[in-house]
Amino acid sequence: MDLPYDERQTLFSRVRLKAGSNRYRAFYARWPQLQKADDAVRGMDILAASGESKPRQQALKDHIDGVDARVRALYAHPPALRPLQRLDAIREVALSAGAVDAGVALLSTRDYYQRFGGVGENLGRDTYGEETPRHYSRALVFAVEMRLAYMLRAPRAEVLYESKRAYEAVARIGATVASRLQASGYEAAFASEDYYLTPMVPLARKAGLGEIGMTNHLVHPDCGNRIRLGAVYTTAPLIPDEPREYGIRTFCRRCALCLMNCPSRAIKPYTRRRQGTAFFQFDEHACFRMFKALGTDCSICIVSCPYTHGIDRRMQRWMADDRERMDAVLKKHLHTHGRRPRVKTPLPLECEGGW
Ligand code: SF4
Ligand code: SF4
Repeated sequence: MDLPYDERQTLFSRVRLKAGSNRYRAFYARWPQLQKADDAVRGMDILAASGESKPRQQALKDHIDGVDARVRALYAHPPALRPLQRLDAIREVALSAGAVDAGVALLSTRDYYQRFGGVGENLGRDTYGEETPRHYSRALVFAVEMRLAYMLRAPRAEVLYESKRAYEAVARIGATVASRLQASGYEAAFASEDYYLTPMVPLARKAGLGEIGMTNHLVHPDCGNRIRLGAVYTTAPLIPDEPREYGIRTFCRRCALCLMNCPSRAIKPYTRRRQGTAFFQFDEHACFRMFKALGTDCSICIVSCPYTHGIDRRMQRWMADDRERMDAVLKKHLHTHGRRPRVKTPLPLECEGGW
């Protein structure tokens, strides 16, 4: 049975449940098949496991704490910006604020989480189990690019650093867009790492930003897997975009580099459907165990993807639906970048105090 989205069912919510608490007991009374595997990945000191030197661990911790504090401040004291002159300029607002792409999704009840999973403790809110507000009719969905130089260090601390930096950018762009919409007379709320009303990947697909690749990430035609997603949920009557096909899923069937490089074998080539959207099967516990063992985001799948390194749009059109041409593009990628692109020299983890 295809149950509605519920944030409590996400692994990031489940691993936050305190063993033996009422919430823990209530959840696993309903989903006993998840308990053992969830318990095995619960609780971790990611920085200590990272194998980084103490100063680098401290730099990363300062960065994470700094981003969390600044995002908290954005929710507590959102910017007060001027109204829009034209509603259709809102996409440009997101791009000017730093998004690499943006689109509009028309929201239906099936896009929403029905209940919060309590991932927003950074905001000082305990909303676990509460119904999500679902009166917004649109979402302006956008992507923020993660820098290739940092992602090429996967699976080292640089990727966690860069991911966190991108999440801060997501929150700042979201706060800017939401403020402009509110000043124009509409309701608007921005998503962030600490506040989601919907899963982001199917929403971004719906807004035409890319396709869901074998990684189960949104694969953007220019940035590949190397993005973080943001959204502003709103009552503004924005003109919706449609899902678009870029040939990415067909290419995935020829490529499977993420699957072959995944150290935990979490990625599977078989499709599954959820709320009408096609995903790939995925062993979330295997991936999370790797996260725990490495002490940082693994992200090997992200950096394995040919789209992450850039496939020219003309090349994409040239190879569309032609398997021989796709194989030629793949061969060229392997020749240029190898099967598993990686740089081992470290990059600085110095936070300058803001995005
Ligand atoms: S993050 Fe690492 S372990 Fe998880 S799916 Fe990607 S490659 Fe596999
Ligand atoms: S690495 Fe290949 S199979 Fe995996 S998402 Fe990218 S294109 Fe698809």
